[in-house]
Amino acid sequence: GGVLFQHADRYNGKLLGGLLADGFDEAACASRYSSFLYRKISLHKPSSYLISRLRSYEDLHKRCGPNTQSYNKALEQLKSGKKIMGLTDCNYIVWISFSGLGNRILSLASTFLYALLTNRVLLVDQGKDMADLFCEPFPDKSWLLPRDFPLIDQFDSLNQNSPNCHGNMLKNNVINSSAMSKPSYIYLHLVHDYGDHDKLFFCDGDQSFLENVPWLIMKTDNYYVPSLFLIPSFETELRNLFPEKATVFHHLGRYLFHPSNHVWGLITRYYRTYLAKADERIGIQIRIFDSRRGPFKHVMDQILSCTLKEKLLPAVDMQDSVVNPSENAKLKAVLVTSLLSGYSEDLRNMYWEHPTMTGEVVGVYQPSHEEFQQTEKQMHNRKAWAEMYLLSLTDVLVTSAWSTFGYVAQGLGGLRPWILYKTENDTVPDPPCHRAMSMEPCFHAPPFYDCKAKKGIDTGILVPHVRHCEDISWGLKVV
Ligand code: GDP
Repeated sequence: GGVLFQHADRYNGKLLGGLLADGFDEAACASRYSSFLYRKISLHKPSSYLISRLRSYEDLHKRCGPNTQSYNKALEQLKSGKKIMGLTDCNYIVWISFSGLGNRILSLASTFLYALLTNRVLLVDQGKDMADLFCEPFPDKSWLLPRDFPLIDQFDSLNQNSPNCHGNMLKNNVINSSAMSKPSYIYLHLVHDYGDHDKLFFCDGDQSFLENVPWLIMKTDNYYVPSLFLIPSFETELRNLFPEKATVFHHLGRYLFHPSNHVWGLITRYYRTYLAKADERIGIQIRIFDSRRGPFKHVMDQILSCTLKEKLLPAVDMQDSVVNPSENAKLKAVLVTSLLSGYSEDLRNMYWEHPTMTGEVVGVYQPSHEEFQQTEKQMHNRKAWAEMYLLSLTDVLVTSAWSTFGYVAQGLGGLRPWILYKTENDTVPDPPCHRAMSMEPCFHAPPFYDCKAKKGIDTGILVPHVRHCEDISWGLKVV
């Protein structure tokens, strides 16, 4: 049975239980088929329906991707600007590169799910560094939008008031149900500052209007998946794709986001040097949204209070009474990510200056301290991506409230993190942290609208699997 075993092994290991297609060039993207060497096997299997839909998406992408006959035809239509009647061969959704890296990863995963649900081809605006950070996820044809795409120069300026903006068209009554012709493209503004008309994107009626528009161009910085779960026409498909609901980002993230070779180098060198030998790996992601410059004592106190109370890290013996650590004392490795170095320095000193009560030894490591967000710089974003990924390789994760950086790590890792609550008035919140209900990211700016009744409603109490988030009371997440 050796061969059969090898086959099953390969399928469950290298191909992540069938999530990944076989046959990619391994050297072009070393991470794709070797990520499994660094992770425990996921407890969450992708459904066979999800796997079959991914394979059929790959066929669609191959048929409609950049520079295919269908693509060129759709492009001609876009260039001519003519309003069109009837169906086109392939329909597209273009994702505009926008915002911090964590936000981008989450919004892109959402947009891929939207593409699956609507049979559209996803094309990714490369922005400054998408190609530098990620491998191609689909076989044969690139997911990158060609740089000569006609509207590319307008991406930065597209906003709520653009003439082809869906919400704006609704506001100005340019869209009415009797109109048979549709514009060749529609811009969807789903940025956190979007308005009530833009939010009608999440209504069935508007979805059916968008159905035959060949080009949708979307700008968003949000993980809007939870609200897709509230659109009735997507319900059956979502149930079939994700019988285990709170695994959307876990599966789609692992399917889509493979670190490029140089980022993979950053990840694997760091992992092997500092984390591989530990008996347990604990990730602590510290992201403080405060206009003042840290580090802050109340944040350090909060981290210690959380990790000790939840027994994620051992307490130290301030009397230094334990002098002989046992020969085979457990080694815990703590991976800290933060823009500042202060928190990990304090933690490292604490475990150097004092023995632990348990006899364990604790190493504290922080790959970088970039001081402030520098989204425009290449090496900065490579490191940010590497650090999110390294956090996802830990066994136990502590994250900061509000941060998409942490959401990416928890989702890829299949980890339900302890979330450090946002502090107020420089005091340690009580409790300092809370275990997340699910590993899904939070949608920070969901609509609160009942499309049928045409009135406001609390969308966090409609169905049991879409709830308000632990860290943002008005946010929504799939649980
Ligand atoms: P969010 O703002 O926490 O939701 O996450 P984003 O990833 O969207 O934006 C934060 C950006 O700040 C990151 O992309 C990085 O550029 C930078 N950043 C924040 N925290 C860290 C960190 O711990 N390490 C590194 N290398 N960069 C960070």
